[in-house]
Amino acid sequence: MSYVDEVIDLVVEKNPAQPEFHQAVKEVLESLRVVVEQNEEAYRKDALLERLVNPERQLMFRVPWVDDKGQVHVNTGFRVQFNSAIGPYKGGLRLHPSVNLGIIKFLGFEQIFKNSLTGLPIGGGKGGSDFDPKGKSDREIMAFCQSFMTELSKYIGADTDVPAGDIGTGAREIGYMFGQYKRIRGVYEGVLTGKGLSYGGSLARTEATGYGLLYLTNEMLKCNGIDIAGKTVAISGSGNVAIYACQKAQQLGAKVVTVSDSTGWVYDKEGIDVALLKEVKEVKRARLTEYAANRPSAEYHDGKGVWTVKVDIALPCATQNELDLDDAKALVANGVIAVAEGANMPTTLEATKYLQENKVLFAPGKAANAGGVATSALEMSQNSERLSWTFEEVDSKLQSIMVNIFHNLDDAAKKYGAEGDYVVGANIAGFLKVVDAMTAQGIV
Ligand code: NDP
Repeated sequence: MSYVDEVIDLVVEKNPAQPEFHQAVKEVLESLRVVVEQNEEAYRKDALLERLVNPERQLMFRVPWVDDKGQVHVNTGFRVQFNSAIGPYKGGLRLHPSVNLGIIKFLGFEQIFKNSLTGLPIGGGKGGSDFDPKGKSDREIMAFCQSFMTELSKYIGADTDVPAGDIGTGAREIGYMFGQYKRIRGVYEGVLTGKGLSYGGSLARTEATGYGLLYLTNEMLKCNGIDIAGKTVAISGSGNVAIYACQKAQQLGAKVVTVSDSTGWVYDKEGIDVALLKEVKEVKRARLTEYAANRPSAEYHDGKGVWTVKVDIALPCATQNELDLDDAKALVANGVIAVAEGANMPTTLEATKYLQENKVLFAPGKAANAGGVATSALEMSQNSERLSWTFEEVDSKLQSIMVNIFHNLDDAAKKYGAEGDYVVGANIAGFLKVVDAMTAQGIV
């Protein structure tokens, strides 16, 4: 049996009931096969892949908090410090009832390669809790965040592990967590990114993942002789990534006709009104029915459906496994040209394969949504320098990082005989740097 298959089997056997983690490991290791086979003996001797798929440290802890009626609740907190070969652990905190150890491990594993691809010195980690911020008062959110950070603060720091936002963790949650860290540890340092501008945040961090997704998508299209201007785009989700992807797509001359949330989706034939979307989602924290109620050109539909609309470009920006084989078939039947992942692992393995077989340009999340973590690393640099850069400075660095990422993965795919397969390219390019650092640092 090949080394890759042995390690995939081992991961499945040793990590029962963690299907998302199995899926992420399979996707990465399968596409590294060509590199691993060239170095099989040395990698096996060093147990390199076993070390890669085993987090350096996994933390699980109790998070008790009191609601507005005086009732005590207990959630579970997680932080998986996956790999620090190229820098301090870096990755977001997800607050969603679906969170479990397997999901945090899949996200942390992906983060290793994503962070490597940015070219910046950041290792891979991820964390969060099964806490549901929806419908909670500000005071309840603060109570949860303070309790969560009381424990997490023992394990993180500006030079060891720097968490950020993710699903359910926005500026408000980061603020409460930063305040509690400072209070407990007594240091004012850049321990979290995604901070508010008045206390060390970076301009353009809010926009970074969505903007970065479009910078990379635009470069991928350009290199394939396609102009994004005038193209029609379907976006799923209506959170941080989706909103700013929508904004940048429109700035580049494309027309975005859909957005969604966990209860339904909107088709807007005139193109999504970003100002209205922001008002509904960022200010009122309301459902998309509110968007449709205020926009005559929009239709609201319950359930899932954005991928049934005829578009040139699809940008899944909500959550994992939201674009399956049937969705991929519908997109291909409607003539889609490109799919780029704003969310983490939104496309199932079968759907990815189907899209690639049908010559759809496919940009995987670990490359396409790396703009968020890249700008977080720029926030870390500004914190260390005690300086703040202008929006234009950060945005132009982000743009060149995303363009570089595309060329790195394009080159890696070509070098290893998989031209145009950006999944293989991204995994190989991300992997080689991490492996080089791991090998140089010995058996740790
Ligand atoms: P937000 O919480 O801001 O938004 C998430 C959006 O996805 C919401 O519209 C939400 O709808 C929808 N959604 C969440 N879960 C589901 C579900 N199970 N089914 C359908 N829709 C769902 O998160 P972000 O925009 O920050 O993150 C979106 C994705 O992008 C995630 O995969 C995240 O890991 C990834 N990502 C985010 C980065 C960032 O900088 N923010 C960086 C890199 C990746 P509702 O409001 O109804 O829950």
